[in-house]
Amino acid sequence: MNKEEKRSIQIRGIGITNRRAAGILRMHKPHERVRRAVSTTTEASERARLEQALASARAHTVTLYERAVQLTGEEAAQIFEIHAMLLEDDDFLEALWDEIERGVCAEEALAAASERFEAMLKSLDDAYLSARAADIRDVCDSVLHFLEADEGHRDEDDAPYILLAEDLSPSQTVLLDKARILGFVTLGGTPSSHTAILARAMGIPALVGVGGTPEAIPTGVEALLDAADGTLTLFPTAEQRRVFAEKMEQDDRIAREHDRYLRALMNKPAVTKSGHRILIYANVGGADEVAGVLGNGADGIGLLRSEFLYLSRTDYPDEDTLAAAYTDIATRMQGKRTVIRTLDVGADKRIPYFGLPEEENPAMGFRALRICLDRRNLFKTQLRAILRASAYGRLAVMLPMVVSVDEVRESRRILAECREELARENQRFDPSPEFGIMIETPAAVMMCEELAGEVDFFSVGTNDLAQYTLAADRQNPALDYLFRENVEPILRMIAQVTAAIHRHGGWIGICGELAADLSLTQRFADLRVDELSVSVPYLLGVRGKVTECQ
Ligand code: PEP
Ligand code: MG
Repeated sequence: MNKEEKRSIQIRGIGITNRRAAGILRMHKPHERVRRAVSTTTEASERARLEQALASARAHTVTLYERAVQLTGEEAAQIFEIHAMLLEDDDFLEALWDEIERGVCAEEALAAASERFEAMLKSLDDAYLSARAADIRDVCDSVLHFLEADEGHRDEDDAPYILLAEDLSPSQTVLLDKARILGFVTLGGTPSSHTAILARAMGIPALVGVGGTPEAIPTGVEALLDAADGTLTLFPTAEQRRVFAEKMEQDDRIAREHDRYLRALMNKPAVTKSGHRILIYANVGGADEVAGVLGNGADGIGLLRSEFLYLSRTDYPDEDTLAAAYTDIATRMQGKRTVIRTLDVGADKRIPYFGLPEEENPAMGFRALRICLDRRNLFKTQLRAILRASAYGRLAVMLPMVVSVDEVRESRRILAECREELARENQRFDPSPEFGIMIETPAAVMMCEELAGEVDFFSVGTNDLAQYTLAADRQNPALDYLFRENVEPILRMIAQVTAAIHRHGGWIGICGELAADLSLTQRFADLRVDELSVSVPYLLGVRGKVTECQ
C-alpha cells in the first residue's frame, strides 16, 4: 500500500437518493462566539468591520427571502423580513455600538449584544416575543459569518461544497441552496426522517446516520459522497477519484437513457400486464414542487404535507393565505386529484410559534390531529381554506395520525360546520370533497373496518406505521435495520386495510417511503392497491415498474 492509499478514509452511512457528488467537505454548525484579543484592534477598525458585516448580512437576508418565496411562497418567507428588521433595529444597533465603545472586538460586541437581547426577550411573558430570541441568534450567526468571511474565508465559502452536520432540521433542509450544496452528510438521521424525505424531493445526494462525533471527521478536505452505495471517502487516491468520475459519468448516461424510456410512458396510464391500473401520485411539500409533479406526468398529488406552509414562518398563516396557496395548487393541477393533509406538526416538525410543550416522547405525543382537535380555530382555518380552494380544482381532505372512529366523526362534524359557515357567507366551494384518513397507527389498522365505513379513502403512511408497529423511533439511525428487516408486518397490515376499504367501496393509496420501493411494487399490485404516492424524482421509475409487473 502506498502512502496515498494509507491516508484515504472511508465512512459508511445510509445513502439517500441514488446519486453521487464530489467536492470539499465542510462543517455546518452554529458559528462559535469568537472573542479576539482587543489589544490587536482599534475601535474605528472594529466599528468598520461590524458595519461591513451588517451590510452584507442585510443583503444576504434579501437573497434568503427571495429563495424562500420561490420555495414556500411569500407568506412563508416573512421570517427573513423579520431578520431584516432586526438588522435595522435601533436598540440592537445601539447595544452593538455601546459594546464597541467599551473597546471590545466586533465578534465580542456581537456576542454580548446578542446574549443581552436573547435574555431580555426570553424573560418576557409573551410567546411571540420569546420566539424572537431564536431570530436574534440566527441574525447574529449571519453577521458573524460575514465577519469570519472578512477574515479571509470568503472564497472558500462561495464554492459549492458537501455539507457535514450533526443533524439538519426539516426547515434547515428546505432552505439549503442547491446551487451551493453538492450533497450532505449527517451524523444522525434516518431514511424515513423528514429531512431525508426533503433531500429526496430536492434530488440532493445525502448520507445519514453516519454516527460518531463531528471532531472525528476531517473537514476542509476533498470528499467523494456516494449515496448509491452509502459511503463517504475522504482524502481519495488518484485511482479512487478516477473510478468515481467514471461512475458519475456512467450514472449520467444511464439516467439519460432511463429517462428517455420512462418519458415515453409518462402520459400513459400505469397498468400491470394483468390489467390492474395503479394511479401514480406525488408527495409534495409546497407549491414549488407542482411544476415537477406535472413535468413528470403524475396522475395527481397523493400527499400535500401542509405543515411545510407553516415551517418557515414566524406566525400562523391566516385563512386567506392558506386558501391562496391551495387555490394556486388546485388551479395548476388542472382537475387532477390533490389530497391535502391537514396539519401534522409535532414530533420532529417543531414550530416555535406553536408553543408546544416539551415532551419526553414527542413522536407519541401531542401532534397532528390531536393538536387540531384541541385547537379548533387552527383546524377550522385549514378546513375552510381547503373548502374555498376546492372551487378551483379537485381537492380531497386527509387526516393524519388517526387512532379512533371518534376522531374521524368529530373531524367530519367540524368540516360540516365549516361548510355551513361558508354557505352562509355565499362563498363558492365543492359541497362534497373526498374525505380520507392516513393509516399510520396500529390502532387504525385494527379499526379499519369501522373506519372504512366513515371515509372515501385510506392512504397508508408506512413511515409512521412502521415506527409505531415496530416500536422503533424513525429518527434513530441505530434502529434503521429494524425498518429494513421487518417489512412483512407492514405488508400484512396493508393487505388488511385494503380489503376493508374495498369492501366499503373506497380506494386506497400508499404515501409512505415504502411506496417508492421498486422491490415491493409487484406486492402492492397483487394486493390491489389503487394508488402509489412518491416524491417527484421517483414518479417515472414507479410508473415504469408498474407497467413491468404482472
Ligand atoms: C408517513 O408517516 O408515512 C407519512 C407519509 O407521513 P410523514 O412522513 O409526513 O409523517
Ligand atoms: Mg406520518
